[in-house]
Amino acid sequence: MIQIYNSQSRQKEVFKPIREGKVGIYCCGPTVYDYFHIGNARPFIMFDVFRRYLESQGYEVTYVQNFTDVDDKMIERANREGITVKELGERFIDAYFKDAGALGVRPATVHPKATEHMPQMIRLIQGLVDAGIAYEKDGSVYFHTPAFPEYGKLSGQNLEDLDSGARISVDDEKKNPLDFALWKAEKPGEPSWDSPWGKGRPGWHIECSAMSMEYLGEHFDIHCGGQDLLFPHHENEVAQSEGFTGHPFVNYWMHNGFLNIDNAKMSKSLGNFFTVRDILKEYDAEDVRMLMLSAHYRSPLNFSRDMMMQAKASLTRLYTAKERLLSLKASAKDGEVNAELIQEIAQMKERFIAGMNNDFNTAEAMGALFELVYLINTKLDESTALGTLNKAVEAFTDMTDIFGILSKKTDEVPSEVQALADARAQARKDKNWAQSDALRDQIAALGYMVEDTPQGQKLRKK
Ligand code: AMP
Ligand code: ZN
Repeated sequence: MIQIYNSQSRQKEVFKPIREGKVGIYCCGPTVYDYFHIGNARPFIMFDVFRRYLESQGYEVTYVQNFTDVDDKMIERANREGITVKELGERFIDAYFKDAGALGVRPATVHPKATEHMPQMIRLIQGLVDAGIAYEKDGSVYFHTPAFPEYGKLSGQNLEDLDSGARISVDDEKKNPLDFALWKAEKPGEPSWDSPWGKGRPGWHIECSAMSMEYLGEHFDIHCGGQDLLFPHHENEVAQSEGFTGHPFVNYWMHNGFLNIDNAKMSKSLGNFFTVRDILKEYDAEDVRMLMLSAHYRSPLNFSRDMMMQAKASLTRLYTAKERLLSLKASAKDGEVNAELIQEIAQMKERFIAGMNNDFNTAEAMGALFELVYLINTKLDESTALGTLNKAVEAFTDMTDIFGILSKKTDEVPSEVQALADARAQARKDKNWAQSDALRDQIAALGYMVEDTPQGQKLRKK
């Protein structure tokens, strides 16, 4: 039973998909005006892990992540560089796929681009105008918030509080300070599209309503993004979508906490950011994933060199455990399985699942993985039967696959090296030291080191 913290109800709820066995997820994607930073990487990585987890639990997941490829920042940069907004978008969409791919983030089922969904947006806006929830003014169209009495329900604010916080300027075209643009009339130097209200471009919020409905239907399971998107972006999405359809839009709203530097949100506007590109020059992509997985996605996570070093060290422990497990398996013999150990391994897997079921608590699940590492390092040895080791390998890979880590090849010991090692073990039993040394040299020539430990000999790649 998976429980998800729903930002809308502000509590954990049992996850129940709309269509049995299927899950529809929409995640707000990047605005492609620059390389993304590791703060942006947090939702990309975490929601990728949750998608993998849902799939491991038998769900068929449709995962949609958009590209916002037209907005003020894009127009400003394209004009500055003397290129088109489309060219700028293409450059950074390409960069997104490279960087996200390097981080082990799988491509979404669909990556819709805002600029390719104008008819869908126009249809929504027209519907809202027809219903009297939106109005046109000088070629722009605004959503009229007082016409949607539930406005504020997602972020838990009421209209009066919001009203008193907002200000309206004299020359504002809006009827109410909380009204927001669905369509913006064309301005010189900006790309534009035809619409019933003249040339212009869409507002940011309507893009996500139109693209999510296009691929997931008018009512779908999970909508996610960073906590900064809760208000106004997601609040406005709810208002537009439900105002248009007259029924619920999304069942579960999920928001990740910020990745911080010195307790301030990492962001381009504050200038306190590191791009994924830069970080990957210094660290391994899996170190970054380890860092993200070490905290629950809703908690703030502080980024520092120290934290990265800790993540790296944890990952090395995992790789070492994997190597040990595989080399034990390579030299294991058939024999009676150890029921007690098999039960312990099964319990660790259950604890991992319990952690993930608890609002995708990867920190808790990571704890279970490290219990397995401890077991590998202490209780599994040369005398462990192949059947038991297979269970350990299975549990270990199931967990690390969901996390999307340990994908670097840990070579299994080649059979010829293993055969030489077995012969050497026999030679040592026979106290034939000359033979044992000769075999050690042959093993070394194949790139492996052999160490003699109280548990027997161990093979290690040179
Ligand atoms: P943007 O390209 O700025 O729209 O951001 C893409 C995604 O990254 C959104 O889901 C944001 O909420 C999220 N995001 C931006 N900055 C941070 C941060 N410092 N920590 C976590 N998530 C962030
Ligand atoms: Zn969005």
